[in-house]
Amino acid sequence: MPQLVLLPGKDRLLARRHPWIFAGSVDRLHGRARPGDTVEVVAANGRPLAKAAWSPQSSIRARVWSVDPEEVIDDAFFKRQVQAAVDRRRSLTELRLQQGLRLINGESDGLPGLLADRYGDTVVIQLTAAGADKWRAAIVNAIQRATGCARIYERSDSEVRRLEGLAPVTGWRLGEAPTDTLTIVEHGIRMQVDIVAGHKTGFYLDQRENRLLTRELAEGRSTLNCFCYTGGFSLQALAGGASQVLSIDSSAPALATAVANLALNPQLDSSRAEWHDADVFSELRTMYSAGRRFELIILDPPKFAPSAAHVEQAARAYRDINLFAFRLLAAGGLLMTYSCSGGIERSFFQQIVAEAAVAAGRGARVIRRLGAPADHPVALNFPEGDYLKGLLCQVD
Ligand code: SAH
Repeated sequence: MPQLVLLPGKDRLLARRHPWIFAGSVDRLHGRARPGDTVEVVAANGRPLAKAAWSPQSSIRARVWSVDPEEVIDDAFFKRQVQAAVDRRRSLTELRLQQGLRLINGESDGLPGLLADRYGDTVVIQLTAAGADKWRAAIVNAIQRATGCARIYERSDSEVRRLEGLAPVTGWRLGEAPTDTLTIVEHGIRMQVDIVAGHKTGFYLDQRENRLLTRELAEGRSTLNCFCYTGGFSLQALAGGASQVLSIDSSAPALATAVANLALNPQLDSSRAEWHDADVFSELRTMYSAGRRFELIILDPPKFAPSAAHVEQAARAYRDINLFAFRLLAAGGLLMTYSCSGGIERSFFQQIVAEAAVAAGRGARVIRRLGAPADHPVALNFPEGDYLKGLLCQVD
């Protein structure tokens, strides 16, 4: 087996079980390996440390499969890892009944570069690194065995594949396209999931609990949902008794699905819902000038900082929308604000929101700190996994 030899002293991250080996830690590759091949990671003195997947094109030069250097990486390894991830979710009561559930959360489930989301009896996988890409067949097999699902669809069209030198790949890996639109029920609300053309694997499962919180907060409140996608927060706000819900997104297909989702839930009062196809940045300004005010505002923007290089620009964008949201809040109003940028840490996000409140001239306090639910665990050895951070603030 090829050996990845680390530079002297560069085994510290690995000693803390961190799953990434950066190019700057690598001395040389001893032997030949193609992208995704398993390599033995050894210290500068030759001591075996781990088994990892070789990614020659990426600055993350290898992703660790196991910190046990004796571990054999084969079909059985993937069967064990996938089964363990599925079992961990089954052991948590809050997750057992969810139709939409993240089954495998990459590095945090010991499977770097693999995401798997279940929507009823369909599982959508996303392979984002050379190692996971190489083991596609074993992964598909293992997921089918562990879940008994009828269908598996691959959505490996994420931008991050490019950093690994991998082309986008999509298609059915088990079963065929169902004739009906895929729908799930989330907290009693029916939602369509477009696994083929929707964002990510079709749905933002990571906001599931926060959508429920919105329902609990919405009663009697005029609500503004910015970046609404297919209306998840909007429909929960309606279910919670919001007096009105204005939802904004710049994607026409997402809004069309949102409107369809509302129709799928006839128990909701559709006369209270309004949908705007618009750019949030300019629409917030327009509404402020027009004197509109809201009692609950949700800001769930896309990833403004996909990497550390975009942090400054992203911070400005977060500051801007939060500033206008604070201005648009009625006295005593609530702001639920998020960042899903890996490059923006929790404390920095809170600082940005604090600056926005000051700039808006509003006193505000944090009443809840928010994140992703238990099916999106963050391994303690992988703090980078904590990408979704949110704050619930109340203004004076
Ligand atoms: N809150 C949603 C997920 C939001 S994803 C949920 O719970 O499902 C981010 C959304 O922002 C996407 O739907 C995207 O179309 C939209 N978007 C991105 N930039 C935008 C902009 N400048 N103005 C309005 N919408 C935007």
